[in-house]
Amino acid sequence: MYSSTILSYRRTDVLMVTPWFAPIVWDGTYNIDILNAQFHQRNVRVGLTVFAIKKYTVFLQRFIETAEKFFMVGHKVNYYVFTDRPNDIGNISLPEGRKVVILEVPSYKRWQEVSMRRMEMIRDYSQQRFIHEVDFLVCVDVDMRFSDEVGVEILGDVFGTLHPGFYAASRDRFTYERRKQSTAYIPPDEGDFYYAGGYFGGTVPEVYKLTNYCHNEMLTDKRNGIEAIWHDESYLNKYFLYHKPTKILSPEYLWDNGYAVPQFLKRRRFVAVPKNHNEIRNK
Ligand code: UDP
Ligand code: MN
Repeated sequence: MYSSTILSYRRTDVLMVTPWFAPIVWDGTYNIDILNAQFHQRNVRVGLTVFAIKKYTVFLQRFIETAEKFFMVGHKVNYYVFTDRPNDIGNISLPEGRKVVILEVPSYKRWQEVSMRRMEMIRDYSQQRFIHEVDFLVCVDVDMRFSDEVGVEILGDVFGTLHPGFYAASRDRFTYERRKQSTAYIPPDEGDFYYAGGYFGGTVPEVYKLTNYCHNEMLTDKRNGIEAIWHDESYLNKYFLYHKPTKILSPEYLWDNGYAVPQFLKRRRFVAVPKNHNEIRNK
């Protein structure tokens, strides 16, 4: 049996909790056996949403194969694959308790639009479907592979993930939207962290609220002829500024091997797959 003192499960080299008392999830700060027992008791069901629009279908197989090794092992998982090319996706059979659900959706011409419209589609399916099927949603990019465990330690009411390019940057370096004309505008003296657009989640009602907000702000901007600098990521950062996440994932959960690995990064759990941007984004 485990035992703990106030000096175990602590890290002194990184921030473990935000000033609003949300935990930041790092290796060595939690006991996965305790958490697994809690979430099994609740018979938790997790939805993993991923978009494979146009050429991005090529990423799907590796994404799911590696997720089967590392994502919520031992728990119930629905992979919700949003795609405009359902025929390109072969039959994927998974063990009991885990399944792939293909959701056919429209595609958009510009990659920025494809990326932003994820908010609208996650919102709509949250209300129609996800709310009846899962307890939590995890919403991620598809151009990724799992390379270490990602489990129930990430789950909470509403969570965001520290962008691997900005964890050490000061606020004035964050690439928030800085034009006042955009609804995503963040004043220079505000903002807690720079969150990544490619990894957020929470309970279905919380993800509904988040995606609904981001989509509506995007539509307002569109009517005004402006698009936030980093698209859905900018609206997400605005949302989290005034609706603070209840848990934050460290860059262990979203890494890119193009960055030098700092000492405090003990695990790289979910890593970007290199891509030729021009080749893959344009059809
Ligand atoms: N995406 C897609 N098809 C596209 C462009 C984007 O399916 O033509 C989805 C895909 O899930 C991708 C996400 O939108 O992971 C975000 O785009 P991307 O990964 O290119 O952004 P980056 O991570 O390079 O900022
Ligand atoms: Mn990506």
